Amino acid sequence: FVKFSEVQKTYDGETLVVKNLNLDIAQGEFLTMLGPSGSGKTTTLMMLAGFEMPTQGWILLEGRAIETTPPHKRNIGMVFQNYALFPHMTVEENLAFPLKVRKLGRAEIEIKIRRALDMVRLGTYAKRRPAQLSGGQQQRVALARALVFDPKLVLMDEPLGALDKQLREQMQLEIKHIHEDLGVTVIYVTHDQSEALTMSDRIAVFNDGVIQQLATPAELYERPQNAFVAQFIGENN
Ligand code: ATP
Repeated sequence: FVKFSEVQKTYDGETLVVKNLNLDIAQGEFLTMLGPSGSGKTTTLMMLAGFEMPTQGWILLEGRAIETTPPHKRNIGMVFQNYALFPHMTVEENLAFPLKVRKLGRAEIEIKIRRALDMVRLGTYAKRRPAQLSGGQQQRVALARALVFDPKLVLMDEPLGALDKQLREQMQLEIKHIHEDLGVTVIYVTHDQSEALTMSDRIAVFNDGVIQQLATPAELYERPQNAFVAQFIGENN
């Protein structure tokens, strides 16, 4: 469904931040990129989203080279740590935005917004502005906005990073349920080992621009392939 083939990325022409990345992600999979700060996870996601170009190699989405599709036509939903909701718009206006960009009719927009708000249990908050919501509620709006146009692929970069521990654990379960209900493919970036182990079908452990191991949570935990993976997975667990 998503294929990275010998992808490399340098920013300054010298330092390789992503080195010879090969990765196949199946449709419907929940794939987490886990690794320490600076290991190249966000850069990998940005190349898929179209905000950065690979220096070498190919990225295929449903068998097509990604750079042949402009970013706004890729139909990829995105959720980031700092929500990036439009502060001057209400919740429903925030959700309508990606649908208007796609030129949907008003009736269809209303149905999709209602469905998305129900999915994140914010049905009664449609008229509020982001500043009138808690951090967790804002993050739910961001999640609803990423899903409202029925993307096949959703990219999430540390989406729960700004939330406290209890809320984070609750949102992990909610995201997991939504993933299962919709059957959407999710690529999730985190540096939090326990988050990755709880949520993922498979985890790609990044360090220094290289995938150190690609495995299910159980395999990673039981059979780490090298000292880095063993130590990194062992931390905080
Ligand atoms: P974090 O969890 O801190 O976001 P990460 O694993 O997502 O880390 P990246 O953000 O992909 O890592 O960064 C990988 C390396 O590339 C880092 O050394 C970073 O300083 C560098 N880098 C990232 N973006 C740029 C940029 N726009 N220009 C130059 N260097 C960059």
